[in-house]
Amino acid sequence: MGPRLAERLARLDIRTVQDLLFHLPLRYQDRTRITPIGALRPGVEAVIEGEVQLTQVQFARKRMLLSQLHDGTGGITLRFFHFNATQQSTLARGVRVRCFGEVRFGKAGLEMVHPEYRLVSESSITAVEECLTPVYPTTEGLHQQGIRPLTQRALELLRNHPDTLREWLPDAVLTRLRFPTLREAVAYVHYPPPDAPLDLIEQGAHPAQRRLAFEELLAHHLSLRLLRQRVQRHTAPELEARGKLMAALLAELPFSLTHAQQRVIGEIRRDLAHAMPMLRLVQGDVGSGKTLVAACAALHAIESGHQVALMAPTELLTEQHLATTRAWFTPLKLEVALLTGKLKGKARAEVLTRIASGQCALVIGTHALFQEDVNFARLGLVIIDEQHRFGVHQRLALRTKGFNHGRYPHQLIMTATPIPRTLAMVGYADLDSSVIDELPPGRTPVETVVIADTRRADVVERVHTACRAGRQAYWVCTLIEESDDAQGRAPAKGSASVAGGRMPGATTLQCQAAIDTAAQLTAALPELRVALIHGRMKTKEKEQAMRKFKQGEIDLLVATTVIEVGVDVPNASLMIVENAERLGLAQLHQLRGRVGRGATASHCVLMYHAPLSQYAKARLTALRATNDGFEIARKDLELRGPGEVLGTRQAGLLQLHIADLARDQHLLPEIEQTAVLLLNSHPGHVQPLIRRWLGEGAQYGEV
Ligand code: ADP
Ligand code: MG
Repeated sequence: MGPRLAERLARLDIRTVQDLLFHLPLRYQDRTRITPIGALRPGVEAVIEGEVQLTQVQFARKRMLLSQLHDGTGGITLRFFHFNATQQSTLARGVRVRCFGEVRFGKAGLEMVHPEYRLVSESSITAVEECLTPVYPTTEGLHQQGIRPLTQRALELLRNHPDTLREWLPDAVLTRLRFPTLREAVAYVHYPPPDAPLDLIEQGAHPAQRRLAFEELLAHHLSLRLLRQRVQRHTAPELEARGKLMAALLAELPFSLTHAQQRVIGEIRRDLAHAMPMLRLVQGDVGSGKTLVAACAALHAIESGHQVALMAPTELLTEQHLATTRAWFTPLKLEVALLTGKLKGKARAEVLTRIASGQCALVIGTHALFQEDVNFARLGLVIIDEQHRFGVHQRLALRTKGFNHGRYPHQLIMTATPIPRTLAMVGYADLDSSVIDELPPGRTPVETVVIADTRRADVVERVHTACRAGRQAYWVCTLIEESDDAQGRAPAKGSASVAGGRMPGATTLQCQAAIDTAAQLTAALPELRVALIHGRMKTKEKEQAMRKFKQGEIDLLVATTVIEVGVDVPNASLMIVENAERLGLAQLHQLRGRVGRGATASHCVLMYHAPLSQYAKARLTALRATNDGFEIARKDLELRGPGEVLGTRQAGLLQLHIADLARDQHLLPEIEQTAVLLLNSHPGHVQPLIRRWLGEGAQYGEV
């Protein structure tokens, strides 16, 4: 094919014959029988055949061609807005035509607008289609008529050369699960027979579809299992420490560890003492105290003579971690450094030297932490905070980065987004997992209210009252989602954006909203000290605003969603979220997690702009009903689908073509079994199967 077609197909992620075969129809048209015109109903797509009674050009507001068609059972109008003289003359009175199109109800009865049509002669019989006609996802410049012949050729190739798609699932599995073979499944899904159970197909529940989804999920699960096996063959430094540094830190803190924190720290320390790289995911709801767990893990590694890298997704969060850990580590005579993309020139060179000499015990940074020129003297542990913002590739790149003298650093991954077990099997099967299932004592649950923005004045008054009483508040402008990293959060193909359009310039728009809101609130609340924070501000300015807020010199902080993750100011007890209807559940839960961190009763006001969609309403209702992150994650999965829950759509962890984790969850136990069977009895099938679904890059490089 030519380069233009190739480019258009590439936009649909189609590069190979196999990609074409896995590019499945969205729906089907039934062109297998001719419907009598008298039996047509508006809204249906149908094939009809009849004789032209009259064709004429009409000048209404626009010039158009109208053609009356009759078949003895009834009549219909064909309406064309774009036409030429030949068309007008071919559709002459007495000619027989066969059309396909959607029937609608027009001024003069039933009509079809721009139907596909062709002339048929009385003498020869023109066959109707034998199978249902697929309607594919397309892209600009590539129509159904363009893509259908390509798929047909691919299917033909598959018929003549079965090795185009080899079967990697053992017969026993196919029989047990009553699955068709891969070739049968692919052929069926593209061209189902006229009597196919369309309702099943629409739900993605037909055995042919389930078989494809099964294989895709199996490939993902297998690739993570292999990854894990390979990691376990590597060696890591055995980090032995008695826990002197940790004890010294804990002695200085005004509180003691929760049982859950103690348990998780114990699990981590056991892993660190092994010569096999730790790969542990720590899940803990917002406010459960993950930072302290990370700090204890870091102190263990440092005490054993190693360095630690802590990576966080936003600059704001790295700055906060810097402040927190410096306060904790400086009395222990340990050096902490910050390395972000904004650090340039001499300052950067200096930090790099201290990292390379081993002088810096803990290095905090964004993904800039792992650029080419950053070299650690003795990196023993990598900690990734708020992992849902990072993808699996970044996770793996980090590990390679720390490779040193034949050893890999240990890795600790922290997330506030709980991951249901079934999802973990496909998204995180390479990790062990710990759960901090307890909040520090003395927290009162945040009380959440949902209010229309017509009551904004009341909300402003509420802020006034709270701040006058010595508390602090956040006012979050969530016009559009914002990310201050270069890596951003690119919308994946076909993903509906819950946040309402992450278009270019979204950040600017949101910043502008925050700037405007800050100005309005400053005017409305002259007694209060109002500050502003958003992703477009200079690092210094952000730092300063944050520090003042933390020290209580600011009453009201107007912010964009940059404060979504990690920000910790215990005295802030009121959070206002504007346009809350535009955000996803998990994100709202994260935002709300910025309050309720101290002993005072906290409140969260979710302001929405009417009208609320059904889903937005369900999200806000769910948030009002519970503060439990696991409960919210379950709800989120129900409302949005797992790609969004894992944050993987953005981060590119799970690129599923056919499977849908929410829909196909029930397949997961069988997938686990089949994975074991393949690894043990058909090891030769494993790699080709992974490559088929994850592509050549499937092995995530050498990890
Ligand atoms: P998250 O899990 O959301 O990252 P943080 O680590 O930011 O939570 O902790 C939230 C707050 O709880 C911080 O102010 C922290 O100092 C405090 N905290 C952590 N552990 C405890 C504890 N065991 N008892 C009391 N407060 C704690
Ligand atoms: Mg945190």
